Amino acid sequence: MSPNRSYSRRRLLQDTVCYAATTAALRAGALPQRRLESAVEQNKVEFSQIHGRAEQDEKASEPFLNPENRLGYAIVGLGRLSLNQIMPAFGECRLSRPAALVSGDRAKALKVAKQYGIPETSIYDYHNYEQLATNDAVQALYIVLPNGMHEEYVLRGAKTGKHILCEKPMATSSSEARRMMNACMLAKVKLMIAYRQQYEPNNLALRRLVSDGKLGRLRGFLASNSQQQGDPKQWRLNKALAGGGCLPDVGLYCINAARFHSNEEPVRVAAQLWQPKEDPRFREVEASVSFSMHFPSGYVATCTTSYDVHKSQTLRLEGTDAWADMNPAFAYSGNKLRWSGLDGDDEVLFEPRIEEKNQFSLEIDHFSECILGNNTPQTPGEEGLRDHLIMEAIYRAASTGRAIDLPV
Ligand code: NAD
Repeated sequence: MSPNRSYSRRRLLQDTVCYAATTAALRAGALPQRRLESAVEQNKVEFSQIHGRAEQDEKASEPFLNPENRLGYAIVGLGRLSLNQIMPAFGECRLSRPAALVSGDRAKALKVAKQYGIPETSIYDYHNYEQLATNDAVQALYIVLPNGMHEEYVLRGAKTGKHILCEKPMATSSSEARRMMNACMLAKVKLMIAYRQQYEPNNLALRRLVSDGKLGRLRGFLASNSQQQGDPKQWRLNKALAGGGCLPDVGLYCINAARFHSNEEPVRVAAQLWQPKEDPRFREVEASVSFSMHFPSGYVATCTTSYDVHKSQTLRLEGTDAWADMNPAFAYSGNKLRWSGLDGDDEVLFEPRIEEKNQFSLEIDHFSECILGNNTPQTPGEEGLRDHLIMEAIYRAASTGRAIDLPV
């Protein structure tokens, strides 16, 4: 490791953490600035490098803010995603902590609160949710409810004055998405949509490959995000609560990735949809959708999504000079990037070993950093709205059998 690289990385981190710590403390009315900076400084542990030049640097653990100074989140809805992914992810958050719970099931909430050191007084239900306004330990709400409830809980949440992180899909329609953005703007609170893959290291590495020109000009994107759905009574198969079937739930990842990796917006979509209504799972929502999105540069995304096939989560980008793929592409962990192009006269396949990091922790800490620094998140409400407009065009294309133009 060159001394310069080591110095600048350490300095950057130190500056970020000190700034974050200071602002968090000031907002939370916690420690004064100087004491806080030294508290963070004291948390830093450094080792000398033990490896020789031929080895990769050993990654240093980044210092965490002391728990009492991290931004506090109220987790709204204690279902599978909250309990299996989000709550454990706080363990790897450097700037954020779980501070309150909102649930209709108090016994469950008590069990969770005990595990994560959340006081009983910070457990709320769906009726007294607004009382979060007076809980100074909470700076942000994380909405993890069925899609059809996002609008109500963002609108009511905005009135508490807390910033809002909302799960994907943002809502069940573009008009709901617009009302959510408007409510947050009027309440002067930040709104971020939890597109975790935009914070995931393999996806970030792929985006860098594209922006560094390693693939040449992008021409094609092929992706599939599908899974086999079970119980016909679950909310994901209920149109009012889900907004649709596989498209808004898992197909959304393909739409968002095609946009994220190309940094371009589609201008036309075409689609076909399959809904075998005799299957009790698909009385209200579609089972599969295949669709294409056409971009101004000539880049075309061809995607499939289904609730009736074995889990398949792949993505492939084809450029004029090289291709890249990920399999899996949208998983919670274990995503795998490869790319292939010419090296001299030889076609070479690169399989970089990218350090695994908890993408939920990265996503949550990104929102905390935006709150502390008063910045716009990478995935604000506008990002969710765009995907809703594209999904609405896909449904229209499937029902009319015609390609649908999107506003530029
Ligand atoms: P879930 O069914 O496991 O949990 C939903 C929670 O909402 C439960 O605690 C349930 O009790 C509560 N709830 C309150 N009112 C309800 C009602 N009327 N009907 C049904 N449940 C009700 O769902 P989940 O998988 O945790 O999904 C929650 C949100 O997270 C959804 O928006 C989903 O799209 C999103 N999600 C995102 C990811 C991701 O990778 N980012 C993964 C899974 C789910």
